Amino acid sequence: MTLTVVGSINIDHVIRLPQFPRPGETLTGSDYRIVPGGKGANQAVAAARAGATTRFIACVGEDTLAQSLIDGFAADGIDTAAIERIEGINTGVALIQVNAEGENSIALAAGANGRLTPEQLSRHTEGLHCEQLLLQLEIPLATNIAAASQAKVQGARVVLNPAPAQSLPDELLTLVDLITPNETEAERLTGVTVNDDAGADAAARALHAKGIATVIITLGARGVWLSEQGRGQLIPGFKVKAVDTTAAGDTFNGALLAALQQRQPLLQAVRFAQAAAALSVTRPGAQTSVPYQDEINALLE
Ligand code: ATP
Repeated sequence: MTLTVVGSINIDHVIRLPQFPRPGETLTGSDYRIVPGGKGANQAVAAARAGATTRFIACVGEDTLAQSLIDGFAADGIDTAAIERIEGINTGVALIQVNAEGENSIALAAGANGRLTPEQLSRHTEGLHCEQLLLQLEIPLATNIAAASQAKVQGARVVLNPAPAQSLPDELLTLVDLITPNETEAERLTGVTVNDDAGADAAARALHAKGIATVIITLGARGVWLSEQGRGQLIPGFKVKAVDTTAAGDTFNGALLAALQQRQPLLQAVRFAQAAAALSVTRPGAQTSVPYQDEINALLE
């Protein structure tokens, strides 16, 4: 059973500052780091480390860091044959400022991610002969629609992590079998405020009404709201000491699909994914914090 991730690759430039600079102000920060990121990449890495056979369809630019990113994915066992270098453009970039309170301010330049067009995707249609397709929203919407419709024709399960938050056309939502918004994303998609179980249930029902069979709303440290055929329940998360929640959602998504690939029942797969995400929040960084299958199983024992 194969998993194909179609999505973004970013180079994250992270700088810590006492506070965010105001317009026109220059502030000296500390602890500057360049780290691999992008939701597609994070989720592909999370799936592969959690044990999934994973293919990744993506674009990078012609900058010097691009090859080392691809080498990193290959080292995690990801099939990188469909990651293409696009000439005349940079790899996607996120400029991330972190203030003393640990809050983020992020400026994104899509770069090569914007070149992952339906035409580019059509060069890799064999990659969509998969049993599970995992999508996010950092590449052109038309590409996600094309990928979802092609994978659906092959009988694949189409999974959408609708992040970053935005409203979406029914053209995409009706192709989705499983959706994994966080509270903000669920609210953006449905107009329903999600700050308690009743809100989560109402938002899940609104997503079911679009034809989506399974809805998993991630609720941070509280866990997830899992809803199937209109029947929802809270599945509590693991209690851990959180250090950095970056990529918790990405880890959850990748690990969930790895567990489903291993034919775990949905409830068990959600527990596995929550264990993976809980481990990721105990460590700093994005891909650096993503755990491996044996660590996840150890937490579940
Ligand atoms: P991010 O944008 O930070 O990647 P997200 O907003 O997409 O995250 P969350 O709902 O914050 O997603 O977290 C995803 C999952 O990670 C949760 O459902 C939960 O299982 C786990 N998780 C997140 N924060 C914590 C925490 N503090 N303690 C334990 N588990 C956590």
